[in-house]
Amino acid sequence: MSQKKAYTYAIDLDGVIADTGPEKFNPTMSDEEVVKVYRQAQPNQTIITKINKLYGEGNVIFIHSSRYESDRELTEQWLAKNDVKYHRLVLGKIRADYYVDDRNLSLQIFEGGEQK
Ligand SMILES: [Mg+2]
Repeated sequence: MSQKKAYTYAIDLDGVIADTGPEKFNPTMSDEEVVKVYRQAQPNQTIITKINKLYGEGNVIFIHSSRYESDRELTEQWLAKNDVKYHRLVLGKIRADYYVDDRNLSLQIFEGGEQK
């Protein structure tokens, strides 16, 4: 029986799993308004299907978000409601305009189903 290698994926939430990219926020928004955007976010079904497939194949899924720890409960509720399968929700990711990483997998490649 051949054993497929398991990979660990650190997957961003806002703008990837949820339709909450930077265009949904502005600096004048109150905390309540931000929470409302989080709660009302639409799921990216293509990405969720891909994540759940990887999870089902034995890969490790970390959801990595710059949301605050105080948003953990509503975030977990949203992930459960939208049937996202994952091992750990890691909050406190640094907020940056660009992330440069030698292990980066572009969203386009991830959505397209290619695997390193
Ligand atoms: Mg993001």
